[in-house]
Amino acid sequence: MEIKINKSMLALAEGDITKESTDAIVNAANARLAGGGGVDGAIHRAGGPAIMQECRKIGGCPTGQAVITTGGTLKAKYVIHTVGPRYQDGTKGEALLLKSAYLESLTLASTKNITSIAFPAISTGAYGYPLHEAARIALQTIIEYLKEHQDIQLVRFVLYDHTTYDIFTQELKKLI
Ligand code: ADP
Repeated sequence: MEIKINKSMLALAEGDITKESTDAIVNAANARLAGGGGVDGAIHRAGGPAIMQECRKIGGCPTGQAVITTGGTLKAKYVIHTVGPRYQDGTKGEALLLKSAYLESLTLASTKNITSIAFPAISTGAYGYPLHEAARIALQTIIEYLKEHQDIQLVRFVLYDHTTYDIFTQELKKLI
């Protein structure tokens, strides 16, 4: 599914984000930038050791913030590492932190003249964020940003499994 927002495109796809050829892909990292399972592990495996070397130099990233490295051997030129919240019970600021993770990633992309970017479903794996709410927050934040900024031409959500793809599609239909 894809929709146009001003001159930009917002697209949903099912697949493996490490194969994306957007200028940047976003990593759902942890605060120590230490690598791990899920999409984080997949990006480091596919992109080679240069990404981790840069992460070590940066040292860490607070929840809700984002940092950038090169893409190593990935097709994408950059990896934006953002840290989503670990879902507890929904009263610990999770929604604002998840929104901030998307917004800070987009803002960083804009400052680096990145015009196309791919996101995974941040916080919905090991960090346990309920899928419908996470999808709604993710999509609302991106739509709002694309309405106000012309520089990013393409945002792709690359969703690893069919259920996640379906839920993002349902939530996007509610927002347009
Ligand atoms: P978090 O710790 O932020 O929850 P995870 O990596 O555990 O991060 O999960 C976030 C989402 O990324 C989940 O929907 C998971 O299925 C998905 N995912 C895992 N591997 C990939 C991949 N190679 N490409 C895209 N998404 C992926």
